[in-house]
Amino acid sequence: MLKFFLFTVGILLIVTTLTSCGDRDPANGEGEVSPEFVFVIHGGAGVFNPDQLPEGREQEYLDAVNRALDIGSEILSGGGDALEAVEQAIIYLEDQPIFNAGRGAVFTSDGTNELDASIMDGRTRNSGAVGGVKNVKNPITAARKVMEESPHVFMVGPGAEQFAASVGCDIVDPSYFYTAERFEALQRRQQREMESETEDGDDAPTGTVGAVALDMNGNLAAGTSTGGMTNKRFGRIGDSPVIGAGTYADNAGVAVSCTGHGEFFIRYAVAHDLNSRYKYQNISLDSAASYIIHEKLAGIDASGGLIAVDRNGHYTMPFNTSGMIRGVVTSEYRKSAVYRD
Ligand code: ASP
Repeated sequence: MLKFFLFTVGILLIVTTLTSCGDRDPANGEGEVSPEFVFVIHGGAGVFNPDQLPEGREQEYLDAVNRALDIGSEILSGGGDALEAVEQAIIYLEDQPIFNAGRGAVFTSDGTNELDASIMDGRTRNSGAVGGVKNVKNPITAARKVMEESPHVFMVGPGAEQFAASVGCDIVDPSYFYTAERFEALQRRQQREMESETEDGDDAPTGTVGAVALDMNGNLAAGTSTGGMTNKRFGRIGDSPVIGAGTYADNAGVAVSCTGHGEFFIRYAVAHDLNSRYKYQNISLDSAASYIIHEKLAGIDASGGLIAVDRNGHYTMPFNTSGMIRGVVTSEYRKSAVYRD
């Protein structure tokens, strides 16, 4: 009898071990995966058809994603901080004119560029954000400075610019953000609007950047940076700098960065909603995120996507548009893509 009992327990142990070892795919969203670190980035969700992108653009996106993944994984594999990986990768993406953040920011209806960014530390829920800045070269750094060098969370406009300058952020002439491609997109958009007399602000979002990380110490961090949406009213601020809407990080839950039609992401507090669903519904990261993007948001015609990583090292990158520029690197795995898998 005892032999039979020990035999049964032994078999059960073997089966349990095999099941959890076989479940190493960190994208799975279930089971016990514990990669040493996880780093995920996005370069915006939107309508990407191969014939609509300029020649060679897909490769440019992938190259930039891979470079940003290198930056994050160099920091994280050396034992560095999730927050540092997020900030440094986003700085790199902000400096690339092909993304709608930093240098390549889209234009407002007024022909200006107004940039938004936020960052959050999952250890403490400390967070920092800037909105509507016009002369800060790397808004993600200004957001981090708000978090670390001010008593505040969210600063906007001239006050945020003045603060950024006072703490040593790089300040540039607003013409630094002029790119012909984005300006022509504004002109096309305004032309279409005149012809169809539609309201502004509903242009397909593309090119916002974001990063989420789990470091070797189990810390989560998230950040997002954007120029917003082409032809947005000047003064409009989207979800990207709004903590709980575009960005959230909680060591006991998830780190998340969103991209898409910001007004909906604010109304539905998407980033915080994901963290809550994950924590309180006891469901996998993947199912919580899929529900929000594919059912809740898609159900109200809100386009976009998100990237997220949970405290156990699962990640997810759902989107309800035709593409989302994205990539992931862990201690065991790497992938980058633009279109659907
Ligand atoms: N969420 C951004 C905004 O509404 C745009 C985007 O992600 O493309 O400002």
